[in-house]
Amino acid sequence: MSAGMSPSRQSEITQDVIKSVVHLTEQRDELTLLRGLLESILEMLPGVPASLLCVVPAPDREGWILDQTSSLPEPMFPFADWLLAEVGSLSADAPIRQFARDGLGYLISSLGIQDGQRKAIVMMQPAWNPADLRIAEGMLKIYANFARALFDSERDTLTGLYNRKKLDQKLGELLAGRISGSNRQRDKGTADYLAVFDIDHFKRINDNFGHLIGDEVLLVFAGLLRNTLRDVDWVFRYGGEEFVALIKGVSPETIASILERIRVKVQDHQFPQIGQLTVSSGYTAIIDQQLPSYVFEEADKALYYAKEHGRNQVRDYRGLMLRGELAPERMVGGTVELFD
Ligand code: GH3
Ligand code: MG
Ligand code: MG
Repeated sequence: MSAGMSPSRQSEITQDVIKSVVHLTEQRDELTLLRGLLESILEMLPGVPASLLCVVPAPDREGWILDQTSSLPEPMFPFADWLLAEVGSLSADAPIRQFARDGLGYLISSLGIQDGQRKAIVMMQPAWNPADLRIAEGMLKIYANFARALFDSERDTLTGLYNRKKLDQKLGELLAGRISGSNRQRDKGTADYLAVFDIDHFKRINDNFGHLIGDEVLLVFAGLLRNTLRDVDWVFRYGGEEFVALIKGVSPETIASILERIRVKVQDHQFPQIGQLTVSSGYTAIIDQQLPSYVFEEADKALYYAKEHGRNQVRDYRGLMLRGELAPERMVGGTVELFD
């Protein structure tokens, strides 16, 4: 802020900054955090056009195009190809760039690079004055620090997958949308599914080869899972050697074949040092369960069934129920009891 500014104007700006930071750091997921950043910048720098964008490599890999699947707010101005290329070339090491072109000063900043996707913010004005530049850069730094903290708090440190806390949040959101009917209409015959995976006899791996090798196996397994599923699916490390996937909008046949593919892939994989291992999984459709924990419990029951019936297999909760292979339950006085 410039030295010649009156004390009351300075205090006004300080209050605006504090308000913006509070607003920004109240957000708990990436999209609302990005929106919060944009709003803060537009508030702090009125009159400076600012837009969020997400670019991906063009199919021929020689340029960058806007990612049509990202749900960022509508941009305030069109992006020329050269600007998309500038954004595409931002790196995590040099996330901010300032340059002039065709009589306009641009400030562009990376807001995250993931799986080839680059999210960024672009601001422009005829000439940047030092005070505006400091405000913009300050907001971007606060965003970056907070986004990192948020990212870390929802990831598992060993595998980098989402953690159990994030699963609870995602599942809560999914069910809330399902129950209030606000979710996009699903294609007929498809549903979202939750699958639980548990490595078979994992304790033996630790016992025979040591904990470090055990960790290595978990890392490789996490990679297999992540690479077999689509980008739209969510993968979590639930705890120890248990993993969860949320698989969106697929038919009963597709979910069965996806999970079977994972089972076979793991069975056929040569894990470093230990060679072969297997995984069991259980899954359930996310339909009308009243609580997120019920969804997990259903899949977990199917997993338990798979463990009890020889491991290295995939079991479906609803299928088991229909065939009477799992006993139905009822709620009595808040606790679950088995029917006689
Ligand atoms: P099952 O086929 O019935 O699943 O047998 P299991 O041996 O895999 O089952 P159990 O749940 O008894 O053992 C899981 C083991 O996973 C116990 C624990 O020592 C190990 N474990 C949990 N977290 C970690 C971890 O972060 N790293 C390593 N290396 N081992 C872990
Ligand atoms: Mg286990
Ligand atoms: Mg296990």
